[in-house]
Amino acid sequence: MLSQERLSKMKEYNQRVKELLPGGVHYNFHLPWEETPLHFVKAKDSRVWDMDGNEYLDLYARFGALIIGHGHEEYNESLKETIDRVLSVSHCDMDAEALELIAKYIPSAEMIRYGLSGTEIVQNAIRLARAYTGKNRFVRFDGHYHGNADNIMGGRADNYNEPIPADYFGDLKGTAGRATDSLESQSYLLPWNNAELLEELFRKKADEIAAVITEPVCVNGGGVMPAPGYLKRVRELCDQYNVVLIFDEIITGFRMGMGGAQEAFGVVPDLTTLGKAISGGGVPVSAMVGKKEIMQLLEVKKVIHAGTFNGYPLGTAAVKTTLEILSRNHGVALTKMNENITTIHNIMMEEAKKVALPLVIQGPPACASYHCCHDVLKNTDEYTFEIMSLDIILHNNLARNGILVSTISRLYPNISLSLVDIDWFRGRVGQAMLDTKVVYD
Ligand code: PMP
Repeated sequence: MLSQERLSKMKEYNQRVKELLPGGVHYNFHLPWEETPLHFVKAKDSRVWDMDGNEYLDLYARFGALIIGHGHEEYNESLKETIDRVLSVSHCDMDAEALELIAKYIPSAEMIRYGLSGTEIVQNAIRLARAYTGKNRFVRFDGHYHGNADNIMGGRADNYNEPIPADYFGDLKGTAGRATDSLESQSYLLPWNNAELLEELFRKKADEIAAVITEPVCVNGGGVMPAPGYLKRVRELCDQYNVVLIFDEIITGFRMGMGGAQEAFGVVPDLTTLGKAISGGGVPVSAMVGKKEIMQLLEVKKVIHAGTFNGYPLGTAAVKTTLEILSRNHGVALTKMNENITTIHNIMMEEAKKVALPLVIQGPPACASYHCCHDVLKNTDEYTFEIMSLDIILHNNLARNGILVSTISRLYPNISLSLVDIDWFRGRVGQAMLDTKVVYD
């Protein structure tokens, strides 16, 4: 267990940082505990070391981006070689290889454009859908997250036949300072996993709806799986009503296998947004990929998609090398990663049982969430404040015991996760369970 003493350097350091950095953090979705944020000095494979010399198992993995692991030799060599050879040009000699790999593995990827963040690429995908359909609004779902932009954050799905009233905001993912008018006029917010409601909305309003955007597995809403047949039905409805279906696979892409959720569920969207793991996790790359007919609007209708660093060589090298590593030998690295994280899930369940702490683990192995409750969440509205609060307590107790998991309760492995890491986990998780059970009682 970490003591205050074992965090003393960072305590001082954080005071210094806070003078200049609002809240002392680089982003708002950070869960504070004692002397966090931790500042790290070293990282290798699945381990990280903070300024005070404490070691952690990293299942945080930079919000799921880090699939390649820290200090992966082949990956790092590829980046170093690129820095020395061709750091900053607008098109480089690795473009074709990287694009071909994405197209080979992602079923919907007939054409591809890059960005840097998930947020911006989602906005570009929506713009494309509008240009393609000549319609303006889009549909999104309760509990899903598609980035840090005014028109897509927050809200509650309880008046889903009208555009969202501005004063619905203020929940976990809403934000002060948003442009409420653009929000009201842009999207319909629906409960997820309910195709009847979508159909009802389409029947009334399809003439104004350009796109439906959904996480194919709602990782951000608690690791909720799509109900059997749901995604297929959404696909059919979008076809029927001339609505562009966008899968946001920024988390699931390359974590749920090389072909993402769309391959796993056998449902091919019109457009897909990718990010995080696509470039291994060391440098930022996002991408929108999709049907030629839609993507070609970027050429023929001059739909604008721009960005100073789009397609930068370091990112391209990272995409190329990551996809080569992940796909090698029939994807053995991903298979092993899934096996090892499943063992960790099993240990977690056993340890929770020992102290009688209710626990479920749900979602695809490589981007699963744990929840301190009795039953698997079947929809995002079941992720209540009480469950979330306990999840946060467990998150913090895990961190105190040397195990970092992602906000709020996600367990992101990378391909270096080993049997030694599993032992480390086994040796520490019990105490975290016990400390959480005390609060639960
Ligand atoms: N979509 C999904 C599904 C995400 O999980 C995220 C980030 N967590 C985003 C979009 C936004 O990506 P970024 O943080 O790179 O802007």
